[in-house]
Formats: sequence, structure tokens, C-alpha cells
Amino acid sequence: MRLKDKVALVTGGAAGIGLACARAFAAEGAKVVIADLAVARGEAAVEALQEAGSDALFVRCDVGSRAEVEALIASTVAAFGRLDVALANAGIVKAGDFLEFSEEDFDAVLRVNLKGVFLTGQAAARQMVAQGTGGAIINMSSVNAVMAIPSITPYVVAKGGVNQLTKVMSLALADKGIRVNGIGPGSIRTEVLASVVNDPEKMKGVLMRTPLGRVGEPEEIASVAVFLASEEASYITGQTIYPDGGRLAL
Ligand code: NAD
Repeated sequence: MRLKDKVALVTGGAAGIGLACARAFAAEGAKVVIADLAVARGEAAVEALQEAGSDALFVRCDVGSRAEVEALIASTVAAFGRLDVALANAGIVKAGDFLEFSEEDFDAVLRVNLKGVFLTGQAAARQMVAQGTGGAIINMSSVNAVMAIPSITPYVVAKGGVNQLTKVMSLALADKGIRVNGIGPGSIRTEVLASVVNDPEKMKGVLMRTPLGRVGEPEEIASVAVFLASEEASYITGQTIYPDGGRLAL
């Protein structure tokens, strides 16, 4: 039990990678808070965790809203008394031609994928500092933080920003005993990837660029999140780890 009695928050925890991380944190003994816009899914996820014997809470939260993120931290503390681990995972993608991207799509992606990570990390860190206990913050990045793909320009820009945010937060919070790290997945089997997984031609393209020859599973990201959240990573801060099947080695 690497996270016994820790309180762990996961934004975007109702589906995909976030849900796998929430389950993995709970399996390691953590009390888990799932924050998401998807209420029915989030509540069902929490019910399943509770049935499996874990303490868990769902909070509806839009990570792009400072007021909602602050309310999320307050709900977490009201339910479980503290916060030890925050995984800023909520993210969206908008695809299109670079010349056609709208201002609305650019703003929407930056709001969730970059500002949301900042707001979550700042509010979580304030709580951890107030507790005086240290903590671990994990920012969900992507291989696209370093690998530019024009058809998802706002996403690439946001994830590049997340990597810098991880570094700057690690410096700002090191003397408070708060470690801040990132995870940059390659292609992982979630709903975001469904249009690729279900299209043999697109899938061929992904596999050609993935040395391990397959897409990753959400659980293969969750195991990295557990490691970074745990004492096993006690001397790691300011890093982004890429579980990407070797893609960035190409
Ligand atoms: P997903 O769509 O399956 O899950 C994302 C969750 O975030 C959903 O439950 C959604 O409701 C929630 N969400 C969206 N906007 C929100 C908001 N404003 N506030 C709160 N919650 C919100 O996606 P996923 O594939 O599990 O991706 C999770 C994270 O991993 C994202 O940051 C994504 O960029 C990153 N990532 C995914 C892949 C991949 O291949 N799937 C690869 C690299 C990085």
C-alpha cells in the first residue's frame, strides 16, 4: 500500500486515464476525490470505488474556473481533512487545419489544458502549504508537448506550457516539500483515441511511430502516476516522464 491514508485528487477522473489513476490510487490505499464535468460517470466511478471498500468522493468541477477549483479543494478537505496528491489530468482536444483554427477553439483548449492545470496545482499547493505536510502534484502532459503536430495546434501549445508549468511549480514549491512532476503519454486507449483505434489506416500510422508496436493502456499511465505520487519518487521533482511506447526515441 504505497499511498495508505493519503488523500488523492484526480481532475478528469471520470473516464480514461484519470479514471485508471483514481482506481490505482485507491488500490494503493488512498482516499480518492474524482473531479469532472461528467456527473453521471463520476458518480458511478465513485460508487464502484466505494463498493470495492475505498473512501471516495465525486465533485462536479470545471477546472477552467478558479471558483470551482477552490470549491473542489474545500470539498476535499471537508470530506477527508487534507490533501496529499493532486493529479491535474482533465484535458480536451480540438483538431483542425492550422489556417482554419478558430479563436474559440484555441481559447477552449488553453483554458482546460493549461489554465486548468495551473488553477488545480495552485489551489492544491495552497492547501498543502497550509497543512505543512508537503505533497505531490502531477500534471498530465503529452508527447505532443515536445512533438509538434499542426492539426492539434492549440493542444500542442497547451501541453508545451504544461511542461514549463511543471518545472516552474517544482521550483516554487520545493522548499515546501511539494514535488511537482509531469506525465507525457503517447497514444493511450481512451475515448480520445477511439477514432484512431477504429480506423485501420490511422492505426497503422500510429503503430509505425510507436516502437513497442501497440497503443498503451490507461493502467500503464496510472502505474507511473502512483510511482510519482509515492515515496518511491521522493527525490524526483520538475520532471516529465513519457510512457509512450518509445515514440520520442525515434
Ligand atoms: P478522456 O476524454 O477519456 O477523459 C478526460 C476527462 O476530462 C473526461 O472525463 C472529461 O469529462 C474531463 N474533462 C474535460 N474537460 C473538463 C473540465 N473543464 N473540467 C473537468 N473535467 C473535464 O481523455 P483521456 O484520453 O483519458 O485524457 C486524459 C489526459 O491525458 C488529458 O490531459 C489528455 O490530454 C492526456 N493525454 C491523453 C492521451 C491519449 O492518448 N489518450 C495521450 C497523451 C495525453
